[in-house]
Amino acid sequence: MPRIPLIAGNWKMHKTAGEGAALVRALLADPLPSRVEVAVCPPFTALGEVRSALGGSTVRLGAQDMYWEAQGAFTGEISPVMLRDLGCTYVIVGHSERRQFFGETDDTAARKAGAAFAHGLIPILCVGERLEERDGGRTEAVVVRQTTQGTERIDPVLASTLVIAYEPVWAIGTGRAASGEEANRVIGLIRRALAERFGENVAARIRILYGGSVTPEVAAEFSSQPEIDGALVGGASLDAGKFRKIVEASAA
Ligand code: PEP
Repeated sequence: MPRIPLIAGNWKMHKTAGEGAALVRALLADPLPSRVEVAVCPPFTALGEVRSALGGSTVRLGAQDMYWEAQGAFTGEISPVMLRDLGCTYVIVGHSERRQFFGETDDTAARKAGAAFAHGLIPILCVGERLEERDGGRTEAVVVRQTTQGTERIDPVLASTLVIAYEPVWAIGTGRAASGEEANRVIGLIRRALAERFGENVAARIRILYGGSVTPEVAAEFSSQPEIDGALVGGASLDAGKFRKIVEASAA
């Protein structure tokens, strides 16, 4: 069964609720290609208004993070139940900025990924090596560890809908994307790790995205690679015109 490409926009800590709704209206002003699934992941505070702006469109809503408990005394946190209530389909977990600035680990990513599925959300689990790990020849060891440990709590029955985003940390927000070939090679290693964990059939169905400085100019280089099933887009997703071009490049 062919994997349908997914282009997901990670808005990070950008856009008020009103700005987010305006961005979505601009994105929906013309029809988007139907062969690609599109998702936007605004900040929590914009989810409600962005949901309204999406209306009946096929563009999916995602969140950028969550806590793994359904409710309780966890001041400042947002639960999977709350995200479902706001109409989210996806939730990003284990993003490298959460790992770098907020102390997240493979274990917290695993808890979040497991809880997301348990509450009807699809996790987009981020993995990727830091520059020093790449320079030290440890890319494979790092992404295999992050993939294996990050998926530890996922029920194998649900695993085929999991989304992984391979995001080399040195490529995020730097304007220095990996090459399509290199990303394809590493994503092949991630798929092999998923096959060890869930079996070949399930691994063949899991979508693995590339993320890191994806722009309209380089999008086709990634979408033409056999192992790459779309992109997690940061900076370029804040501009409706650029994001649309990335979606179109993935549908070509
Ligand atoms: C990201 O934050 O997930 C990302 C890929 O960012 P950028 O596209 O800006 O590198």
